Amino acid sequence: MAKYVLISDTSLTAPFRNFPLLQFLPSAPNSVPPAIYYFLKGKPFPALPNGEAKYAPYAVRKLEAALLKRFRREDVVVAHQDHLEKFITDDTEVIGVSTMDPLGLGPLTMSYNVLLGLKGKPWVQVEWEKLIERINRARKGKKAKLLVGGPGVWDFTVRPEELENEGIDYAFQGEADDIAPDLFEQVASGNFDSNEFFNGYLFIDDNFRRTFIPHSKFIVRRQIYRTAPPIEEIPEIVRPSIMGLTEVMRGCGIGCDFCEVTLRPLRYYPVEKIRKEIEVNVAGGISNAWLHSDEIFGYKHLNARFEPNEDALVELFQTVMSIPGVTRTNPTHARISIPAAYPELIEKLSKIIKAGPDNWIGVQVGVETGSDRLAMRHMPNKTLPLKIGPDGTWKEIVWQGTRNFNKYWWRPAFTVQVGQAEETDEDNWDTVALINQLSNSYVDGRPFEFTVTPMQNVPMGLIKSRGFTNLQLTQSQLAVYYASYRHLAKMALRDAKTESKRNNPIARLGVFSVITFGGLLVLKLIERFAKKSHVDIDKAKRYGLASETQKITEYAELKQLI
Ligand code: SF4
Repeated sequence: MAKYVLISDTSLTAPFRNFPLLQFLPSAPNSVPPAIYYFLKGKPFPALPNGEAKYAPYAVRKLEAALLKRFRREDVVVAHQDHLEKFITDDTEVIGVSTMDPLGLGPLTMSYNVLLGLKGKPWVQVEWEKLIERINRARKGKKAKLLVGGPGVWDFTVRPEELENEGIDYAFQGEADDIAPDLFEQVASGNFDSNEFFNGYLFIDDNFRRTFIPHSKFIVRRQIYRTAPPIEEIPEIVRPSIMGLTEVMRGCGIGCDFCEVTLRPLRYYPVEKIRKEIEVNVAGGISNAWLHSDEIFGYKHLNARFEPNEDALVELFQTVMSIPGVTRTNPTHARISIPAAYPELIEKLSKIIKAGPDNWIGVQVGVETGSDRLAMRHMPNKTLPLKIGPDGTWKEIVWQGTRNFNKYWWRPAFTVQVGQAEETDEDNWDTVALINQLSNSYVDGRPFEFTVTPMQNVPMGLIKSRGFTNLQLTQSQLAVYYASYRHLAKMALRDAKTESKRNNPIARLGVFSVITFGGLLVLKLIERFAKKSHVDIDKAKRYGLASETQKITEYAELKQLI
């Protein structure tokens, strides 16, 4: 039987009824009843006849590929969650689990927690605890070590004691593509090569200061050895990833002061490497190529002003669409200043990827704020090559970018933050104004299509002390939540019918009803909290509209004429 058994967090292994907004559902509290949660989550992706996962999260597939560089196929298995126990035997040396947010400390999960002041747990945590309990039961009395990895290890750096509480042997922090075989062998033996690994973790505080903290249960790569693998040592996946995800670059380089991605070295995948991974997914029956980066328009960008490299982007998307079996593609993340400044680039890419009313290109975009002051303070490069001031306000740049995205059938899923350092009430009202203006705008006679999800910045001290559940949201922060969920309810009503078409007729009716009802329910809930805190709801509904909208529309028209 296999020496190395890999599995992921079970909150990442279901299709969520193919409704994009539902991907956020695991961050919701477990006061969402189990019957509704599991219905909306849908059944897990299928297993192969031998119990292995047919599709697995990309991070698990990468780890599998890295281990196969040294070990035999029969030594490495990616277990399907329904068949996990059968792979954990006396021969198993390491069980590797990839996770996103095991303790429910991610910004979105926090935002629900802070807003609703919950006594229960978020679904991500409920699912995680169940899985770890199952693994611990199955490995009891056996030699198998339990190793966790993935972005969710950050949660354990905030609460290291949870590793002991949950019976986890080690948590690995960082990228492991080139050193995974050494890591798994050394975890199995418990003897670490100090030239390669350090027992401890990298802690990043509220001011983005980095400290290495020794801890026997954590493992990081020795930074003098190498901070991250070069692109040629990142192996290609050998079996299909969920939703056809494939990476096109790592790192970002834009330098927003709240973002850990920017600390990672910038590396681009050559198109042939991307092609190989997509071919693996196509062979597994997936016709969509979901291109992962933290900023797609940064792919091989031209210069320090982050001007997009049109030739490289065209080559990338043309290559993807030329692969036999690929019918559609979309990137995971992008910046809004690029469609604002280069509508002709978006038009060109849209033609290549066949964007249209039946093929909206969904993409996640961190807008973060409507305030010029906060944008310039925390993310001065995110607007490049445009500049706040000479090229308009941040609100105007975001409006123009959304317009151009929507015109060519791209639907951005925005995130905004509350609780940023040095934030004032005025900044939050600027964010409310931005949401209201976008929500009431049109392009080519169509209403703007976008979602907006508020994220909560909770100071590290409060997270560590668990005092965040008592964190009082200010009136202006609640107004941001209210404006966001008001728009989300509007979008849910508008889009649930079409999006749920991909389900069978009975499930379609269920998904449509739950989403529209859920959207309105959440809005009502937030309205109740907001009213209790004496937020001026009428002001939140109309703030930034009327003369402001007029001004912004005129600005857009003016730009078209120049
Ligand atoms: S642009 Fe996005 S990925 Fe890049 S540093 Fe800023 S927030 Fe992070």
